[in-house]
Amino acid sequence: MEFERILIRYGELSTKGKNRKQFVARLATNVKRVVQDMPEVKVHGERDRMQLYLNGAPYEKVLERLKSVFGIQSFSPVLKAELDVEAVKEAAYRLVSENHQPNGTFKVAARRGFRDFPLDSNELNQEIGAAVLRRIPDLTVNVKNPDIKLIVEVRADGVFLSSETILGAGGLPVSSSGRAMLMLSGGIDSPVAGYLAMKRGVEVEAVHFHSPPYTSEQAKQKAVDLAQKIAKYSGQIQMHVVPFTEIQETIKKQVPESYIMTVTRRMMLRITDELRKRRNGLAIVNGESLGQVASQTLESMIAINEVTSTSIIRPVATMDKNEIIEIAKAIDTFELSIQPFEDCCTIFTPAAPKTKPKLEKVQHYESFVDFDGLIEKALKNVETFPVEVAQEAAIKDEFADLF
Ligand code: ATP
Ligand code: MG
Repeated sequence: MEFERILIRYGELSTKGKNRKQFVARLATNVKRVVQDMPEVKVHGERDRMQLYLNGAPYEKVLERLKSVFGIQSFSPVLKAELDVEAVKEAAYRLVSENHQPNGTFKVAARRGFRDFPLDSNELNQEIGAAVLRRIPDLTVNVKNPDIKLIVEVRADGVFLSSETILGAGGLPVSSSGRAMLMLSGGIDSPVAGYLAMKRGVEVEAVHFHSPPYTSEQAKQKAVDLAQKIAKYSGQIQMHVVPFTEIQETIKKQVPESYIMTVTRRMMLRITDELRKRRNGLAIVNGESLGQVASQTLESMIAINEVTSTSIIRPVATMDKNEIIEIAKAIDTFELSIQPFEDCCTIFTPAAPKTKPKLEKVQHYESFVDFDGLIEKALKNVETFPVEVAQEAAIKDEFADLF
């Protein structure tokens, strides 16, 4: 079927009062980004909805891309008919017959926004309904719970029909809530945390701590691959890889074993916070989940968090591992996350880290080392690069043409 456009309905964003204009503009930018390889698609943001003019672009491909854009509540492919009753009936028949299952039910929900059209909403419902029923013998009307709800909108520039409402990703447009640094390990939790923060409109930049030769090039690549997976929701993610070897070796040498983990986390947080300042970020996001490991008890969080007053968002803090895994599978990061490459923390983690570290002790142990100097040095050598979304769909389509 030749759909002419896609109608996009906003989620929460329409309740945002005077900020709405900015939200719509942000969403329009994000939508444009996912269809940037199809320049014929034109995006037109309106106050209460958005229209995507396809101009011949393949609508299935566009629909698929839209599913990963936050801030969209639902969307529908739309047929356009002339302002003519017979043309509307024909378009209605085409749409319903396309989606009709044997013995299915339907209803027409017409709205006449253009007063000069000869039929009002009620007459439209009846006429279109009768015309479609005549042509599809096993179709019946069900007003309360129809299989197909045919929406017909009469406007001055034409009549718009849609029968399918596809659920969007929900949330808020990425970037509408500002920027934050995501502490991205190679594990299961932090990519999920990043995804959830993005869903609430946060633009994330990933920070990954890397300790060669203790951690391999593959471990770093794994973090980059994970960043690429969640880049799908924003188009691109800025990645910062921090050389962490010297700091970890120093901690191992200078800090009593049971406090190594606490001090390590504090250094990671200090460095992340410094990067945040430089990148004008407003918060830090991590994948900590309460009670999951020694560093994630409330006592540990107090001792670790003390190095900064920056807001730390912990989207998975109260989730069970199973709940986190469920999301990881849904966003396709799980298989990557379970690849067995050592993370910098696992390698240096002592057998029995303190689950209730004392802040005074942490500060005392740290006082013998010039961590400021080490942090500065690590920051000087941070590797920063953009991670672009993989256009898997585009590659597949190219191959499709070959066969
Ligand atoms: P994950 O599954 O995300 O690795 P985890 O359960 O393994 O989490 P930890 O290793 O204790 O938990 O890490 C807690 C959080 O600290 C991670 O979710 C992540 O935000 C951050 N973190 C840990 N290691 C790194 C790293 N190498 N680089 C960046 N951030 C890290
Ligand atoms: Mg981890």
